[in-house]
Amino acid sequence: MLPLTNRSKVVVKKEMSLSEKIYLPAIISGMMITFSHFFKKKPTIQYPEQTREFSAIWRGQHVLKRDEIGAERCTSCGLCAVACPAEAITMTSAERKPGEEHLYREEKYAATYEINMLRCIFCGDCEDACPKEAIFLTDRKVDSEYNRGLFTYGKDILVEGIEKEKRIDVTKRQTPEVLEFKKHKEFDHNVVFEKKK
Ligand code: SF4
Ligand code: SF4
Repeated sequence: MLPLTNRSKVVVKKEMSLSEKIYLPAIISGMMITFSHFFKKKPTIQYPEQTREFSAIWRGQHVLKRDEIGAERCTSCGLCAVACPAEAITMTSAERKPGEEHLYREEKYAATYEINMLRCIFCGDCEDACPKEAIFLTDRKVDSEYNRGLFTYGKDILVEGIEKEKRIDVTKRQTPEVLEFKKHKEFDHNVVFEKKK
């Protein structure tokens, strides 16, 4: 039968040599490969005593950001939930009341906001989808738990603290273009409530 391609090889069934029959050379060459690995730098580390250095843009636990005066940036638009491929985000919206401007940056805010950390695959799509710079992934690790119910993180865990020392720095996650844009206070996006009045 004619071959369809010229890639086929003819297998020759030849007699094994003496060295092949006693297997010793093959065993010795295999052992040499094994021993050579003893002197190489080990890629494993003794976690949790040792930890690796993370990249500045490593994607870990989320934070819901506040603006300069401490108001929550999230306007409960739902874009992050729509973008989430794991359907891990849920929220309910509420309307800001007069006098709450220092609490919520926009007229609508997230009364509840939850991320199911067991569903999340830390892809960062929620961060990319957010038009308000309200949600970022950070270099913090999600704690291990024995109870599955504790992996649904609400606003009490996700929203950063209002005090300066409790704010979470996400500037390393922002591109030079974004940081340049934020310098322009003439854009409404960059204006804090106190200046809007
Ligand atoms: S990181 Fe990805 S999977 Fe996790 S909540 Fe955000 S969009 Fe969903
Ligand atoms: S985090 Fe951003 S994208 Fe998600 S609801 Fe809030 S403002 Fe919208």
